[in-house]
Amino acid sequence: MQSYDAIVIGAGVIGSSVACHLARQGCTNVLVLERMQIGTGTTSQSSGILRTHYSVIENVRLAQASWQVFNDFAAYLGDEEASAGMVKCGYLIAAPDGPRLSPLRASLEAQQAQGIEVRLLDAKEAQSLLPIARFDDAALIGYEPEAGFADAYLVATGFARAARRLGVRILEGVGVERLLLDGGKVAGVETSRGTFLAGTVISTQNIWATEIERWTGIASPVVPERHAVLALEAASPYTFQMPVYKDLGSPGMLYCRSYGGRQMLVSEGTVGETLSSPDNEQGDISMNYMVEVGAQVAERFPTYADAGIASSWTGVYDVTPDWNPVLGCLPEVPGLVVGYGFSGHGFKLAPAVGRVLAQAALGIETEIDIAPYSLERFRNGALLTGKYGLGAVS
Ligand SMILES: Cc1cc2nc3c(=O)[nH]c(=O)nc-3n(C[C@H](O)[C@H](O)[C@H](O)COP(=O)(O)OP(=O)(O)OC[C@H]3O[C@@H](n4cnc5c(N)ncnc54)[C@H](O)[C@@H]3O)c2cc1C
Repeated sequence: MQSYDAIVIGAGVIGSSVACHLARQGCTNVLVLERMQIGTGTTSQSSGILRTHYSVIENVRLAQASWQVFNDFAAYLGDEEASAGMVKCGYLIAAPDGPRLSPLRASLEAQQAQGIEVRLLDAKEAQSLLPIARFDDAALIGYEPEAGFADAYLVATGFARAARRLGVRILEGVGVERLLLDGGKVAGVETSRGTFLAGTVISTQNIWATEIERWTGIASPVVPERHAVLALEAASPYTFQMPVYKDLGSPGMLYCRSYGGRQMLVSEGTVGETLSSPDNEQGDISMNYMVEVGAQVAERFPTYADAGIASSWTGVYDVTPDWNPVLGCLPEVPGLVVGYGFSGHGFKLAPAVGRVLAQAALGIETEIDIAPYSLERFRNGALLTGKYGLGAVS
């Protein structure tokens, strides 16, 4: 029976980042077990948007620390061939008069207090950055130049490669079937390919984190929620130089970004379709949804009023009751560390989350306080609900 210092369950962008950061901390006798292939879970379905804009300050800190990594991914990993596929086009966020105005103002101020470059723009300045959109109804517009989007699959495989280079073993096509306990403490895992021993197990299973509940009896408050993403093609280009746009004035709190050439990637930032069991297979996108999103896009981007659908896909969010992740050790089961419940916004947090989960697993003080993300908050009512209410903007 093989024995490791730590086992990571799941090689999405979070698990791969954890594995890489364990090794960077000197813990290289690590095994990663992935039921499918690296990055083929919900990571492969990501829209890839990177921003530090959040109304929950803990998320701002994690996103800020993560941005440092994305911004120079190859140098950070010491691998000149590594790429995050980053497009640093900036992030525009605007709200009209109404309920989302004061959360926006407070969040922009909190970002600035955190040392993040955020500018307030008038409608004309915003239009010069994103000429295809209209801003005549905007009461407040924030612009974060150090933001954009990247490729979540490339990042996951980049972290995995870096981990392997440092000595981590990654097995694909191997599912964990049970957590092994000895005297209530973690002792290893039973898998489709036999038993592996370790006193520390880090679960980064996303929508499949409900398995932890089956293995330990400890509730995993996470619900799989399907969201659709559309790529629309119109006559006017949405270039890589044009910023990502978050439209707090639209009913669906749309997010939009360039998808190259004349294509726009767009999706709603609100609640999706709850699934009865964890499953990230492609789902149907109803004509009603396309019409609903298309109408909102036409309202904001007049030249996209007659856009066609170039492509589309669905992805699944691991949604918790406050739309923020559960991070850290589960005190009831010594040796078990979890990172799940990213609720549609985990990619931009992945580098720092990997680092703090590795630190927690090794018993080192985490560089960012993750106590607010403890599972305990769902029992004691200290929820991390954002000022925008429920949704991935958080
Ligand atoms: C449509 C969509 C758009 C998104 N857009 C953005 C965005 O713009 N910006 C942003 O920051 N975030 C975004 N996200 C969220 C982000 O992509 C996710 O939070 C992130 O990719 C989650 O990574 P993960 O490693 O937790 O999950 P996953 O990639 O799902 O990885 C979990 C892995 O665990 C494996 N696994 C589970 N159970 C077992 C087991 N028992 N044994 C072995 N392996 C197991 C699975 O096979 C899977 O590969 C989006 C998500 C979706 C779906």
